[in-house]
Amino acid sequence: MALVGLVGWRGMVGSVLMDRMAAERDFDLIEPLFFSTSNAGGVLPAQIAKLAKNESRLHDANDVDALRRCDIIITCQGGDYTTAVFPKLRSAGWKGHWIDAASTLRMNDDAVIVLDPVNLPVIQRALAKGNRNWIGGNCTVSCMLMGVAALYKAGLVEWMTTMTYQAASGGGAQHMRELLAQYGTLHAEVKALLGDPASAILEIDRRVIARQRAMTADETANFGVPLGGSLIPWIDRDLGVGKQPGEAGWGVSREEWKGMAETNKILGQGDGFGTPAVPVDGFCVRVGAMRCHSQALTFKLKKDVPLAELEAMIAADNEWVRVVPNNREATLRDLTPVAVTGMMTIPVGRIRKLAMGPQYVGAFTIGDQLLWGAAEPLRRMMRILLSG
Ligand code: NAP
Repeated sequence: MALVGLVGWRGMVGSVLMDRMAAERDFDLIEPLFFSTSNAGGVLPAQIAKLAKNESRLHDANDVDALRRCDIIITCQGGDYTTAVFPKLRSAGWKGHWIDAASTLRMNDDAVIVLDPVNLPVIQRALAKGNRNWIGGNCTVSCMLMGVAALYKAGLVEWMTTMTYQAASGGGAQHMRELLAQYGTLHAEVKALLGDPASAILEIDRRVIARQRAMTADETANFGVPLGGSLIPWIDRDLGVGKQPGEAGWGVSREEWKGMAETNKILGQGDGFGTPAVPVDGFCVRVGAMRCHSQALTFKLKKDVPLAELEAMIAADNEWVRVVPNNREATLRDLTPVAVTGMMTIPVGRIRKLAMGPQYVGAFTIGDQLLWGAAEPLRRMMRILLSG
């Protein structure tokens, strides 16, 4: 039975991964070893102990010798951990499979971005060549491709813009707590006024904005500014300015840069594949949703294709995508983060031709980024390895 090391199981992505692996009975097929960066030697917590076979304690996630025993390591611990541990492990001669949620290794030549319903042929070709580094894609890109990859696979996309509305959970467990704490603080500030139907709405508004502006560094430690009742049009690092369009540093945030780089790499096109990349660009915005990344897409297609044909292609691409009829009732029912949280399905709605001309198509899609955007491709990659 394959020995599988699990690192980062306590975090947001890791917790969802444990749930999914339990639900799909993945633990029946493996001998899991649980690692920790903060509690090495500690007793397995009850929810994890029930998944273990022969282990009762946590191993040290920084102990290369302990990690080297594993045939497969799945880590959701984050980029700093990958940067610190992965090179040491490979230098120590470890030949196992490394499956990682962090972005650190994604664009390396010897790493494949895994999203098998979209790029199984890319994964299989790399496996045949002996690849051992399998990295989950950016959450927004993976959810987008699960929804509309059909248009890319058909070679129809000349370019695409994506305007995102990304949830707090994209930043991890601490970010979700911070958002909720901020909502609580704001509510407490005006609770008495809200309870009085005669109170003036402008007074409520004034107190809320005053409290938002007065939030301390502790109250905004994770996002840097208030997110509750606001939004933040910058996600991930500032890559600086002054380079050429399409390159990192062209005024894009790192999250926006990933849109084009990762979409093309997942599809096996562009740099390194000897084919032209499809331009993908837009703005990535953090909003006060708890979970699920939403995005408005604009496509310029290479030719005019009837809307019904586009919808049929999208719907037929994989078993999880669902086309939501472009009307108010269906949109409110099926196309919100609240409706989609915890769902494996990827709804694509608001599909329509745009005023710019018949080759311009708009769509709106939402994915639970902790499922298809993070945990699911990792466990499915482990299954691919186990079945090989
Ligand atoms: P996270 O929730 O912050 O968890 C990462 C680690 O933080 C945990 O494994 C845990 O390590 C530690 N931790 C410290 N305080 C914690 C607390 N109160 N609750 C839980 N864990 C705590 O990060 P994440 O969102 O899962 O992201 C992990 C990696 O996946 C990152 O590289 C991220 O970029 C990537 N990713 C995230 C998403 C997403 O939507 N969140 C999507 C795709 C990829 P110890 O147990 O060792 O202390």
